[in-house]
Amino acid sequence: MKKILVTGGAGFLGSHLCKLLLKEKNIKVICLDNFYTGYKENVIDLIKFENFEIIEHDITKPIKIKVNQIYNLACPASPIHYQKNPVQTIKTAVHGAINMLDLAKYNDAKILQASTSEVYGDPKIHPQKEDYWGNVNPIGIRSCYDEGKRCAETLFFDYHRQLSLKIKIARIFNTYGPNMDTNDGRVVSNIIIQALKDEDITIYGNGNQTRSFCFVDDLIKGLYNLMESNETGPINLGNPAEFKIIELANKIIKFTKSKSKIVYLNLPQDDPQQRKPDISLAMKILNWSPNVTLDEGLLKTIDYFKKNLN
Ligand code: NAD
Ligand code: UDP
Repeated sequence: MKKILVTGGAGFLGSHLCKLLLKEKNIKVICLDNFYTGYKENVIDLIKFENFEIIEHDITKPIKIKVNQIYNLACPASPIHYQKNPVQTIKTAVHGAINMLDLAKYNDAKILQASTSEVYGDPKIHPQKEDYWGNVNPIGIRSCYDEGKRCAETLFFDYHRQLSLKIKIARIFNTYGPNMDTNDGRVVSNIIIQALKDEDITIYGNGNQTRSFCFVDDLIKGLYNLMESNETGPINLGNPAEFKIIELANKIIKFTKSKSKIVYLNLPQDDPQQRKPDISLAMKILNWSPNVTLDEGLLKTIDYFKKNLN
């Protein structure tokens, strides 16, 4: 039986990945998490499966278990959460990467890193292609995450070159959908929750900054395809349809028929002005592209929050 480890398995993306992997035959899925931003509730439906196990562990500490594949997703991803304890964030990104790479080496296992579009920082090249080195502030409030993830990519490539480890790096662009925590703080969940409660909708800055939003089901298929391929990456995974944050807010207000007002707050330091993936590499070598439009994905996500908000 193939054993697949998903670190951060109780988080937003991790819980969807565990669910997808459990559809395969003859595999065991091990969800490892320290429950910093993830919750047992996200994987409650999976506990009934005999081939699903949860291990409570912090990846900044070494661990020795038998596994055949590792998806390394453990790391807070929302700016408010990764900035709350930046030292722990960078330890998770860097020490966590070393511990998971050592575990992969010990098992001769393939290991996939959930990297991020944040490695491009506030990009000067648009859309972003994998060969762009980025524009990242090394000492700002986002650096614990951005530089942590950049260093993790370096570690993955050094283990690959020096120790012949089989690595995969996915650069994930903004992803949203069901299982986002109500306190997650990222823009899609924030605005949906505010709209459903008819509370003020918080736009940071003037709302003209852009993001490209990928529905979670599409993204998870991309991660799976990358793991099953012979490709190393780095490879962009995201939906190239680009929207201003104000356009996103107006869509959500329309779909929820909300009475909320928009309020404009200060733009946080180093908030990227634009972001859009060039996914031609993923289309070519993974035969992958997203299928769910922003409108379809928002309607599904609104539905989820309607059922899960108290
Ligand atoms: P999330 O915060 O919902 O999930 C992260 C999970 O990791 C949580 O369950 C958390 O408890 C766990 N975790 C954090 N630190 C840990 C540690 N030291 N040891 C063990 N577990 C730990 O975030 P997400 O959106 O599911 O993101 C998952 C991964 O994908 C992250 O690595 C993130 O950087 C990456 N990513 C996500 C997005 C996105 O839009 N969702 C975009 C780019 C990259
Ligand atoms: N944002 C916003 N209102 C919110 C949360 C976020 O206007 O309530 C903005 C944020 O400043 C950024 C964009 O939305 O420009 C995406 O933010 P998010 O935290 O979702 O992700 P990231 O900045 O990491 O892409």
